[in-house]
Amino acid sequence: MIRKRLVVLTGAGISAESGIRTFRDMGGLWEEYDVMEVASPEGWAKNPQLVLRFYNERRSQLKNAQPNLAHKTLAEEETNFIVHIITQNVDNLHERAGSSNVLHLHGELTKARSTVNDNSIKDIGYSEINWGDKCEKGFQLRPHIVWFGEAVPAMDEAIKLVRSAEIFAVVGTSLNVYPAAGLLDYVPKCCPIYLIDPNDVGVWRRDVTVIKEKASVGVPVMFEMIKK
Ligand code: NAD
Repeated sequence: MIRKRLVVLTGAGISAESGIRTFRDMGGLWEEYDVMEVASPEGWAKNPQLVLRFYNERRSQLKNAQPNLAHKTLAEEETNFIVHIITQNVDNLHERAGSSNVLHLHGELTKARSTVNDNSIKDIGYSEINWGDKCEKGFQLRPHIVWFGEAVPAMDEAIKLVRSAEIFAVVGTSLNVYPAAGLLDYVPKCCPIYLIDPNDVGVWRRDVTVIKEKASVGVPVMFEMIKK
């Protein structure tokens, strides 16, 4: 059997049923924190301890979260499709569900990097980063997260993947954060596009099959539709 290339762009919504809150939904993280205080270079310059505490809390929450049926189905379908996941999420639930090809656009909670050398990155698992924790060269460590206003180094690779898609899917993203949202522009014309979200998402392409469901329901439904 020839396996088709399925490229999936995921956002915070796919992890919502795993108990990790989205940013923009009701009850989302924005309500408790001012995003610019915790997810921007300016916020880091102003109060690095607050930024570290915010990500330490997210990391500790992630430790106890489990992949849900949406993550698991995407991993299981690797037997039928060549699945590439491009995620805006900083959690590791795709990897823990068993997905082999996961590209993180906005960084990873379980990694830390030097504040001076972007290429000095290390795995920290679920442990904290505290003020005074240094890289080998003696510079403060920061979360390996792409903050608002910072470049997205994985974009070129993501664009290549999207251009190569035979089927494209968008799961659980409000498509509000650029440049990630712009990836839809690179989907080849003849490639079917599925969008899974329980709420209305503004899409500018007409050729989109919308599955208005939560990810755990919508992802299996999408595979049924594709296989028909
Ligand atoms: P977003 O909060 O802007 O949008 C979430 C989308 O998910 C919404 O459209 C919402 O309707 C939908 N949604 C809610 N519950 C859902 C469910 N059960 N199934 C499917 N969809 C559901 O998130 P975003 O578009 O990913 O952008 C926000 C930024 O926040 C990203 O850059 C991301 O890095 C970051 N973030 C990451 C995590 C994480 O790693 N899990 C969590 C929160 C925020």
